[in-house]
This record gives sequence, structure tokens and C-alpha cells, in this order.
Amino acid sequence: MAAQISFFPVGNGDMTLIRLRNDQSILIDINVTTAADDASDDRPDVISQLRERLEKDENGRSFVDVFVLSHPDQDHISGLEKHFHLGPENDWKKEDDKILIKEMWSSPIIFRRASKNHKICEDAKAWAKEARRRVAQYRETSSFPDGERIQIMGEDADGKTDDINEIVVSVGDCIETANSIRDGAFSARLLAPLSPDDQIDEEELSKNNSSVILRFALQNKENTETCHFLTGGDAGVAIWERLWELHGETKSEWLEYDILQAPHHCSWRSLSYQSWSDLGEKAQVNDNAVSALSQVLEGGIIISSSKTIKKDDANPPHERAKREYLSMVGGDADRFFCTMEHWDEKSDLIEFELVGSGIVKKTAKTARAAATAIGVGGTATHARAHGDVARSRS
Ligand SMILES: [Zn+2]
Repeated sequence: MAAQISFFPVGNGDMTLIRLRNDQSILIDINVTTAADDASDDRPDVISQLRERLEKDENGRSFVDVFVLSHPDQDHISGLEKHFHLGPENDWKKEDDKILIKEMWSSPIIFRRASKNHKICEDAKAWAKEARRRVAQYRETSSFPDGERIQIMGEDADGKTDDINEIVVSVGDCIETANSIRDGAFSARLLAPLSPDDQIDEEELSKNNSSVILRFALQNKENTETCHFLTGGDAGVAIWERLWELHGETKSEWLEYDILQAPHHCSWRSLSYQSWSDLGEKAQVNDNAVSALSQVLEGGIIISSSKTIKKDDANPPHERAKREYLSMVGGDADRFFCTMEHWDEKSDLIEFELVGSGIVKKTAKTARAAATAIGVGGTATHARAHGDVARSRS
């Protein structure tokens, strides 16, 4: 199957599925609200949409190879306990028919206690409990039972993860293994959470700023095309500013993307320190943060995983932020998408496929049948001067 990325319409929240060329699945966040569980509600039934896109194992159980939690906020983890199996894989019950998580990718924030800056919802507690269980199992046996793996995204403070280095990904390094398979289908560079030394102050340790930021490089079957996908949960302006300070001069290619998920649901707060309500159009963006988010490759696309973006004071999504993102893609309205607007117009997900000719957007009528090239993605050869495989793994 072609590598593909699907953005589910979950309002202000994230829920993104990457399908690798080897059919492995990487799910980033979920936001399955009670309304989506209720058949009488006309909000999109994202859990059915997800299940349709997942494989089943030899025992008929749906699974994701990897579940990445960007950060433990409600709009990124809602529905975990209800729809996903937690605990030993052998305890899975047919009558519950929950989705298995073969490998968790989790920020080390799960090791921290709740605090003023770190209040956690029930689903986030359940995630942390399961993550800790898997880590404890690893500490005891230096291995994982199949289907109960975990990789920790970044070292924890004070050396708390030093004894489990084998399952900790250092910030700046690439992950090339998903659920123990390593076949070149992808690599993902971990850009954040920034190490405790790089955090600016205690305030920056808030949940949003603990967000996992990953830049994926997905390969097509022939290894002729790479899709660079940058996703960063709800990371705020301070983090993007810092990333540019750290990498702008020498490693700006680490931030390059064909597809960007606009952080924090197209929030103004990821682009600026200045208050929109006080300053309005006079509010200025932070140049470094904007630079970090502007490393768009030719024909690149930006997705806002959010409610419809209106010209009002709502935030997120923020209309001025949308304008900033639009200008990053050369003002081309066909290269900026909002998940809920797309759902309202087309009753479908936003999905892209990586085929031999480049990145193409699936359309509502042809989804799951054929893909048609859009102007940008039609990027046929995509002028890949910047995007060859060797470079993407630099
Ligand atoms: Zn969020």
C-alpha cells in the first residue's frame, strides 16, 4: 500500500494516522468525544473511520503499531480507555473489541506527578499508568512481551531515565523502528520535548510545551519519494522560537516539511508572545518561531486540525494565525486545509498518499479507490532537489 496520512475531523484536537508503505500504522493522538460515540449525534464517527483504516492481527483484533501521545491533554487523548486496550495483551476480550496498542511513544512527562501546571484527565492518567507498567516490565526483564512495547520521547529530568537508555530516544535523534520493525519505511526525528537544560523556565514546562515534536520522513515503495511531515502537538511560541535558535543556522533542514500540522490547532499562541485581544492587528509574530514553522518544501501543505476558522477573536483556531500560515505557503489557499471545514464541505477526512509521482490528496469520491493529484501535490516529481532520501536522514 502507498504510504498515507489521514487527518480526522475532531474539532479543536488532534487525531492523525500515518500508514507506512509496509502497512504499519502510527496513530498520533486521539480526540474521540462522547458525542462521536453516540449514533444520534451528527459529528463524524472518527472511531469507525479509524477502525476502517486499521489492520487486524491473526486473532481478529484491530491494532495500531504505534500510538504517539504528543502531550497528555484532553483534546489529544479523549477516548483512550473506552476504545483502546490497556494492560497485558492477553487480557484482551472479544466482547470489548478494543484496539491494541503494540507500541506506545510517550513523553517522559508521564513520570511526573500532577501539579499546578500539570493537571491530568482520566484518559491521560490511564495512558500514564499503562506507560509506567510497560516501563516497569522493561526494567525488570530488559525486554517487552510482544505487543506491549514503549519508547520514551526524550530523557527525563534528573537522570530518572538513565537506567532505561535503550528505550529512550534522545532529542535530536531519529527513530527508525516501529513496533520492532526497521525496514527503512520511515524515520522520525525527535525535536522536542526540549531537554530540561533547554527549557527556558518553569512556566515552559507546562503540558503544551512538553509536546512531542516529530519530523517524519516517509518513504514510498520505490524509495524514490519522501514525504516530510512535521507535527508538534500544542507546542507554543517559546518552543518554536527555541528550536530555531538551536537549529536555524546549521540544521534548518530538520524542520523542513511537505506537510505541517499547524501547532495547537492554528493558535496565535504558537506564533506570537503578544496579546491579540490587547493589540489586534498590531500584535507581532515572533520571527524565530515563524522561521521554525516556515521551512516548507516546494508545494508543501499546512493542515489546521481545528474547528472552522472564523474571522473573530476565537483562539484557537485563530484567523490571523491562519493568514500567517497561508503566507508560508505562498498565499495559496489550495495548500491550507482545516479538518472541520473539509468535513463540513466534503463529509470526508483530509488524506494524502505518497505515490511514485509525489504527494497526492485523496478526494471524497475517490477515497479508497484512486487518488487524484492536486495542483501542489501534482508536484509530480516534486522538484525533489531538497527531498532525496539521503538528505532527509541527515
Ligand atoms: Zn490541543
